[in-house]
Amino acid sequence: MPYCANCGNSENLASTLFPPSSDTAGAPPYGLLANFDAEGCITTMECQGASLDDAQMAFEEPEKYFDMCPVCGSKNIRWQ
Ligand SMILES: [Zn+2]
Repeated sequence: MPYCANCGNSENLASTLFPPSSDTAGAPPYGLLANFDAEGCITTMECQGASLDDAQMAFEEPEKYFDMCPVCGSKNIRWQ
């Protein structure tokens, strides 16, 4: 399953390839977030700027799109 090599988080990953929609102060710096189950499969996704088409593409090729740990902000994501 995918995980963050920095903090060990494997529950969710973010994609910075999709910019967030709002420029509200404090908004997360990513447009899409995915939650993973214990098998490493995406269970739910939260679009925060990404469109549904964007989310579908990311769902099909998560290794290409999810590049950031939303917990610690690291981009040191491991896929295995
Ligand atoms: Zn992390």
